[in-house]
Amino acid sequence: MDTNTVSKLSDNRFFKNVSPEEIKKIPKEYFFVRDFKPDQLIIEENAPAGNLFLILGGSVKVTKEMPGGKKVHIATRNEGDIFGELGVLGHDKTTTASVYAVSGAEIAVVEPNELSKIFEAIPATYSNIVDAIIEKLKRSDGTNLIQLGHLKKIKDLYKELESAKHELEKRNEELRKINVKIEMLNSELKKKNTELYRTAITDKLTGIHNRAYVMDSLIKEFSRAKRQKSPLSCVMIDIDDFKKCNDEHGHLVGDEVLKKIAGIIFDGVRKEDTAGRFGGEEFLMILPNTDEIQAGKIAEKIRKKISALEFNSKKSVFRKTISLGIAEISKIPSVKNEDELLFFADKAMYDAKRRGKNCTVLYSEII
Ligand code: GH3
Ligand code: MG
Ligand code: MG
Repeated sequence: MDTNTVSKLSDNRFFKNVSPEEIKKIPKEYFFVRDFKPDQLIIEENAPAGNLFLILGGSVKVTKEMPGGKKVHIATRNEGDIFGELGVLGHDKTTTASVYAVSGAEIAVVEPNELSKIFEAIPATYSNIVDAIIEKLKRSDGTNLIQLGHLKKIKDLYKELESAKHELEKRNEELRKINVKIEMLNSELKKKNTELYRTAITDKLTGIHNRAYVMDSLIKEFSRAKRQKSPLSCVMIDIDDFKKCNDEHGHLVGDEVLKKIAGIIFDGVRKEDTAGRFGGEEFLMILPNTDEIQAGKIAEKIRKKISALEFNSKKSVFRKTISLGIAEISKIPSVKNEDELLFFADKAMYDAKRRGKNCTVLYSEII
C-alpha cells in the first residue's frame, strides 16, 4: 500500500490508535478507493447494507426520503469520518438513508468479509466503530438517531406484542379451564335434575309412579281422548281388608304386601299406559285407547294374579285380594273432566266392595 493511502487511512477515525505500520500490513485489495464527483450518489437508500465507508477526502451529505417522497438532509460527514457503521454492526439489512458527495469525495469502501478480517487482526478498529456510533448518538446525529429510534420502537412494539400474545394465551387457557368446569357442572346439574324429577314422580315405598304423576297423565290423556274421540279407561284399585292385614301381620308385612301388589300392577300395564300408587292401599291405572272391555280384561288379569299370590309372615301364609272399578270415557258422554272420570271409577270400585270385594265393576254397569 502506498504511503499516501496509508497516511490518509491513518487519519481516519477507523484507524484511531492504530500505527501506520499495522495499517501497512493490511492487503491493499481490502480497500476499494473511489473518487466521487460533486452530488454523485454514493449509497442509495434501501440498498443492501454491510459495507463500511471511510472518507479519505472531501465530505458527504446524508439524506433521507420522508413518507410522501420528500428528501431531507439529515447530516454531513467530513474527511476522516466514516459512514455505514450501523449496517456493519448488523443493525440493518438495508441502508436507511442515501449518501451523496458534496463537492467531490474520496471514499475507501471495505466489504463485510474484508472488514471482519481487519476486526480480527486489529481489534482497535472494531472499538473505533462502536465509539463512532456512541459519539454520534451523543451529538444527536440525525441518521443514527433515526435508525436506532426506528429499531428501538420496533423492538418495543414487538416486546409489547409478545407480552400481549402471552397474556392472551394465558387468558385463553384460563377460559378453556373455566369452560371445562362449566361443562362438568352442567352435566352434574343435568344428572341432579333428572334425579330430582325421578324422585318427584316416584312413590318412595313401592318404587312405582306416585299420585302426582298418574294425575298428570290422567289430565293429559283425558283431553287427548276428548279431542280425538278415542276411548280412555280409568281403573281404581283398592286392596281388600288391608287394615286387617296390618293388624294381623304388622305394618312391615303390610309394606311388603303393598310393594308386591304394586309390582304386579306396574307389570300388568302396557308401555303407553300409566300405573301408580294413588295413596295408602289404593292404585290407579290410566289406559289410553282402551275401551272398557279391554280394560276389564287387563283388570281381571291383574286381580287374578294378585289373588294367587302367597305372602309369608311369622304367623301364617296368606293371600290378598283387590277390588277394581273401571270408568271409560266413551261410555259416559256426560263426563266433563278428569276428576269426574276418577270419581266414577272410584264409585265402581266401591260397588265392587259392596258386591263382596275381589272383583271388577264397570261404571257403565251401575248407571
Ligand atoms: P277395604 O276392604 O274396605 O278397603 O278395607 P281396608 O281395611 O283395606 O280399608 P281401610 O281404609 O279401612 O284401611 C286401609 C289401611 O291401609 C289402613 C292403613 O293403615 C293402611 N295403609 C295405608 N298406607 C299404608 C302403608 O304405606 N303401609 C302399610 N303397612 N299400611 C298402610
Ligand atoms: Mg282404601
Ligand atoms: Mg282397602
